[in-house]
Amino acid sequence: MTHSYDAPVSQTLFDRAAVVTPGGVNSPVRAFRAVGGTPRFMVTGTGPYLTDADGREYVDLVCSWGPMILGHAHPQVIQAVQEAVARGLSFGTPGAGEVELAEEIVARIEPVEQVRLVSSGTEATMSAIRLARGFTGRPKVIKFAGCYHGHVDALLAAAGSGVATFGLPDTPGVTGAQAGDTIVLPYNDIEAVRAAFAAHEGQIACVITEASPGNMGVVPPLPGFNQGLKDLCSANGALYVSDEVMTGFRVSKAGWYGIDGVRPDLMTFGKVMGGGFPAAAFGGRADVMAHLAPAGPVYQAGTLSGNPIATAAGVTQLRLLDDAAYEKVDAVSAELRGLVSEALTKEGVAHRVQVAGNMFSVFFSDEDVTDYEKAKAQESFRFTPFFHSMLSQGVYLPPSAFESWFVSTAHDTQAVERIAAALPAAARAAAEATA
Ligand SMILES: *Cc1c(COP(=O)(O)O)cnc(C)c1O
Repeated sequence: MTHSYDAPVSQTLFDRAAVVTPGGVNSPVRAFRAVGGTPRFMVTGTGPYLTDADGREYVDLVCSWGPMILGHAHPQVIQAVQEAVARGLSFGTPGAGEVELAEEIVARIEPVEQVRLVSSGTEATMSAIRLARGFTGRPKVIKFAGCYHGHVDALLAAAGSGVATFGLPDTPGVTGAQAGDTIVLPYNDIEAVRAAFAAHEGQIACVITEASPGNMGVVPPLPGFNQGLKDLCSANGALYVSDEVMTGFRVSKAGWYGIDGVRPDLMTFGKVMGGGFPAAAFGGRADVMAHLAPAGPVYQAGTLSGNPIATAAGVTQLRLLDDAAYEKVDAVSAELRGLVSEALTKEGVAHRVQVAGNMFSVFFSDEDVTDYEKAKAQESFRFTPFFHSMLSQGVYLPPSAFESWFVSTAHDTQAVERIAAALPAAARAAAEATA
């Protein structure tokens, strides 16, 4: 696919990258494979804007896939990081920053009595699953098709749907043994979960679910679904593990838990809590967390866990995220959702703007999307020209039709106006797209 604009410096960097890095990127979605064209190599970020290596400025609706909820280069976060850097980069000992970040998390999220810091969301879910298995002494894990929990071997089994389908590995390199204890079920289907518990009595360690999924596009839980999961777990001696790596500290002060109030046994966090640095966590019931080394027998560790720079950035960002900040992000999100919907409606494009707190995404579909099958059934061919029209007009969307859009407290009137100005042409391009 060719485009009427180009990005020669980014293209040169991408060509160099492809020589030394598989596919030219360090995380697949960055390569623009779903939409084609040259991935933009970004060099600076300020507030709601990113500037690429060719000197073009974009309103950023990715926000580093969620973490930059205060916008880029927030002065207070930068200052906290600079002060931390000046004190030294890593000690491999306990430090005050870890205590402060853990206290901040525990104070915000009532079901989290204890927390362990790690460096990525993947590590958090991997460790939570190990702990759930160690605590219950059971092997099996239920996950949902379309939910992403990082690239943990056992959780990369998303293939197959239907009641009690055994997970088939989704990727070479994951063996049947690694994925064989994973049961993949259709999202929002509580009867399938009930049937799986009945079919594997006494075998299921936990159900892991995105608190409100954002990795197949935004597909919120139907009313009562999370509570149903929690109740089935409680009734069957399994743990309810809520993955809030994306929603945590983003959709409210207490994440999705702050919205639906369903009490998990274990939770996982990442993205926003690191303030742009690699910091993540898992936590929950104190009696479960007590099984973790060195307090208990379930091993888990990390050389850079609780890194002082990362914790300084995370604590500072979280402390700036008060009620007013969330009100602001919610308001910008609502305004943008209205603008996108208006533009697409004007061009007669069937769509659903789905929302979870301030996260939202656009499905090119004429029905509500409640699971992965429906998400995949959307007219995603309309997304490619929509995306490139926005990009060429200086709006950086996630380069996939199956990702949440993210806004920040820094998205001001000027940024929203730029997006509004770009939408009519993009909506026209979506309308004119052919499969
Ligand atoms: C991003 C994400 C992860 C993985 O986090 P990484 O830091 O990329 O390893 C896990 N779960 C959810 C819900 C996520 O959105």
